Amino acid sequence: MRRVCAEGKYPDLFPMPPSDRTNAGPNRYYCRFTAGRSSSPVDGTATLAISGVEINLGPGHPKRLWHYDRLKTLEPVRPNAIDVLLSSPGEPGASLFVQGARFAADLTGYAPHLTARAARWRNWRWGLLLAAVVALAVAASFAAGWSPLKSFAAALPDSWRQRLGDTARESMTEGHKQCVDANGVAALSQLAARLSKAAPEGISFSVRVYDWPLMNAFAVPGGQIVLTKGLIDKAESPDEVAGVLAHEMGHGIEMHPETGIIRSIGLAAAVEVMLGGGGLANAGLMLAQLGYSRGAEHQADLDALQLLKGAGIAPKGLAGFFMRVTKMEAENSGGAKSGAFAWLRTHPPAAERAKLVREQPDYPATPALDEQSWEELKSICKTTIGPQKPENGD
Ligand SMILES: [Zn+2]
Repeated sequence: MRRVCAEGKYPDLFPMPPSDRTNAGPNRYYCRFTAGRSSSPVDGTATLAISGVEINLGPGHPKRLWHYDRLKTLEPVRPNAIDVLLSSPGEPGASLFVQGARFAADLTGYAPHLTARAARWRNWRWGLLLAAVVALAVAASFAAGWSPLKSFAAALPDSWRQRLGDTARESMTEGHKQCVDANGVAALSQLAARLSKAAPEGISFSVRVYDWPLMNAFAVPGGQIVLTKGLIDKAESPDEVAGVLAHEMGHGIEMHPETGIIRSIGLAAAVEVMLGGGGLANAGLMLAQLGYSRGAEHQADLDALQLLKGAGIAPKGLAGFFMRVTKMEAENSGGAKSGAFAWLRTHPPAAERAKLVREQPDYPATPALDEQSWEELKSICKTTIGPQKPENGD
């Protein structure tokens, strides 16, 4: 049954000139209401009242009020739309069709959430919400005296930090082969896993050795750690390698590489790298010259002591290695031979570290690696992959 409303001058909506037949009075518009899929449409009037759209279908039909804030449309309402199809969750299946540009323009004044702008905003809202959460976390941690940059770095998706780490590592080890002898890699993994036991939840490490005579060890973003053959050659025991590794893991736990890079190249450039859109020019130089503050070094040492204790490895190797190399450098005057000077410069100061280690209470400890695994780690560069002509360091 079709009810013709408003003095019967409105027999059919299709087709209909929008000019004169859409206006049924102030804030009133001719409409067509369908109660459900199987119901016939009923013509009537829709009024933009204070709290919602009043639907009046004439005698025999209840008056309806569809509240503005619950109104829904299939697609966003544009102010110049020539018709609008509305629904309301209060009456599932029902729809209200109103033709004419005036209704669309007027409706957006009452129900702005139906506009295209509002739809765009809803999409944006999630992005802004995320940004607000990050900002809040940063602010909270700042208030608690933590580093806001660290909180920011920690809030980044893991894959982003990995990409930043890959880019930094590739840039810093450019020209050097990676050591991949299977037994050596197994020994190194075993040591890394043992040390990781006491690391905070959710933090994992990947350690690589490069065939590089320069003595070096560093952490890059994403828990990645690089050791050089030069460093392993200088170590006199697996405990010394464990000490250095634990110290670099400490830097990783504290997100020092992440925050260092962001500080150095800026947040925008770092995000670009993390999104895969940019490289790290001179990252090697950058990180090598970066160094960490004394406070950061101390924090990395404290973390290292935790890791060593959790692994049941004596902390003496941590102090001993740095002390021995420092002494060696002093006697060597210049340090061009081992290249350790540059590395030590970024890891000050050995004496302070030795004192910290001496202060640690004793605990039961076993060697970081058994003799066979230690030998295997020392020959990890028997097999290498990477560039054909290594630049052979400096
Ligand atoms: Zn350090």
